[in-house]
Amino acid sequence: MPVLVMKFGGTSVATLDRIKRAAKRVGVEVAKGYDVIVIVSAMSGETNKLVGFVNETSPLYDAREYDAIVSSGENVTAGLMALTLQEMDIPARSWQGWQVPVKTTSAHSAARIEEIPSDNIMSKFGEGMKVAVVAGFQGVSPEGRITTLGRGGSDTTAVAFAAAFDAERCDIYTDVDGVYTTDPRVSEKARKLDKIAFEEMLELASLGAKVLQTRSVELAMRYKVKLRVLSSFEEQSDEAGTLVCDEEEIMESNVVSGVAFSRDEAKMTLISVADRPGIAASIFGTLSDAGVNVDMIIQNISEEGRTDMTFSCPVDQVARAEKAMQDAKDGGEINYHELIADENTAKVSVVGIGMRSHTGVAAKMFEALSNEGINIKVITTSEIKISVLVDRKYLELAVQTLHDAFELEKA
Ligand code: ASP
Ligand code: MG
Repeated sequence: MPVLVMKFGGTSVATLDRIKRAAKRVGVEVAKGYDVIVIVSAMSGETNKLVGFVNETSPLYDAREYDAIVSSGENVTAGLMALTLQEMDIPARSWQGWQVPVKTTSAHSAARIEEIPSDNIMSKFGEGMKVAVVAGFQGVSPEGRITTLGRGGSDTTAVAFAAAFDAERCDIYTDVDGVYTTDPRVSEKARKLDKIAFEEMLELASLGAKVLQTRSVELAMRYKVKLRVLSSFEEQSDEAGTLVCDEEEIMESNVVSGVAFSRDEAKMTLISVADRPGIAASIFGTLSDAGVNVDMIIQNISEEGRTDMTFSCPVDQVARAEKAMQDAKDGGEINYHELIADENTAKVSVVGIGMRSHTGVAAKMFEALSNEGINIKVITTSEIKISVLVDRKYLELAVQTLHDAFELEKA
């Protein structure tokens, strides 16, 4: 029997009624002849509640116990989904991560999946079980402790199962009906995409489009898992939602496929850094040790052995970055004059694989922004993406302007 993976996110299993609704979708696929692996999230809000319990009990918690606690929301929904399916006369069984076992590293709260042996579940399929319901987000470490995969990790569980079981497809059921050209709350012209390439989705996910956990997209790309994002709140056909796939499967791709943004960025500039070999390594090593997620980096022109270094990071990490730099300065490791934090910036990016073969995308982007009087503070590019930092108050205008400039409302 071909295997299908179906993942239901927190809002899709938020109540017993919604679990029933999801179970009916599973029933439709079972009736088509699939052996189905269902991956469930915790009921929406549950994981946050559990994280809150942990923080209240022990602010400097033991990460192994954090995982033992926050993984439990998924155990409940896995059992409930299996029971609901059984009530519909569909042979189903629930599995916690350790029972499969989903073998992970021991990096608690951010573990990576290393291996998912398929024999256990496959032999149950052989005995007539039609649905294996697996608790997402969790696994087991080499030491035999429960691990979790990071917030949003059940997407990654789903893709990893699809790869391990060579599934025909991995359907991610969520509360939106697909991937959009941009956030529909920011531009009413946002259009749902029928298909998007793995690489584009990877950029969009890491740029703040919250539909899929970034790692799940990386995994799908590596193992060529056909990934579909669709809503569990609507009747669905086989073509519904957005297919995330290999770029060869997309006949006519747009030069730009989407506009992504992240609202809360800070632009940090170290003024007059002593310019010597190893200085960048030492600055960014120090920031990374302090847990600062640096995104853009620009080193300015050097004059008389001194240079300015600009980087961006999430605005809630500014204090951490300032402290790390101050400590390094006091300790004599990094010599600079001053650190200026601009906390009123947002990042806007255009993404598209078509950029590889088309010129003029950057010019068009900058011109569109300048026509609206939006000043660009920092620019970075990759092969399929151009990102700029702008004043946060212009974020919505910038997104709408770029959506219009690249005519993303048109298929
Ligand atoms: N329940 C976990 C979370 O809220 C994992 C997931 O839903 O993907 O992050
Ligand atoms: Mg999610």
